[in-house]
Amino acid sequence: EIVNFNQFFNRIIDRFELSKSQHVTFQRMLSDKAYYVDIDTDKLTQVLDNIISNAMKYSPDGGNIRFGVAEQDHVLTVMISDEGMGIPSENVNRIFDRFYRVDRARARSMGGTGLGLAIAREMIEAHGGRIWAESEEGYGTTIFFTLKVEMDEEGEWD
Ligand code: ATP
Ligand code: MG
Repeated sequence: EIVNFNQFFNRIIDRFELSKSQHVTFQRMLSDKAYYVDIDTDKLTQVLDNIISNAMKYSPDGGNIRFGVAEQDHVLTVMISDEGMGIPSENVNRIFDRFYRVDRARARSMGGTGLGLAIAREMIEAHGGRIWAESEEGYGTTIFFTLKVEMDEEGEWD
């Protein structure tokens, strides 16, 4: 399905914004530009739901969650960043492995299975994109993924 990515992304963020009880602030750094992507919207919704749920789960009270989208050479890079406890650098790539959780004791109290990001990676790769994380312990985590832009707002097809 071909959708305007920022519109799709905004709707998902809206849903979290309406239901969030936690004291976190959302900051959308999204332009009005239209980037059309060809995606399975159910699957991308699942990917974003997991990344945003993680960001909320690991955010402290008063934390900011930032949402950004950047385009370069017909590739869209989507980023979601939080100000949570972060992930030790030696483990940051492992969070996309099945059942991997940074701290088992902490993970148990947080709930979940440790499958969310493994599924996200599968789905992003099935769309021809990449997904990765950058994190600094004590400062926060940013999850990035890419999607191919099919058409921009001038109607230019790739
Ligand atoms: P599930 O998504 O299945 O409910 P989960 O959230 O524990 O469980 P993943 O989403 O795959 O599993 O994340 C794997 C692990 O990566 C988490 O258990 C957590 O340790 C770490 N992690 C993921 N996102 C963040 C984040 N934003 N900040 C800190 N740690 C994170
Ligand atoms: Mg998760």
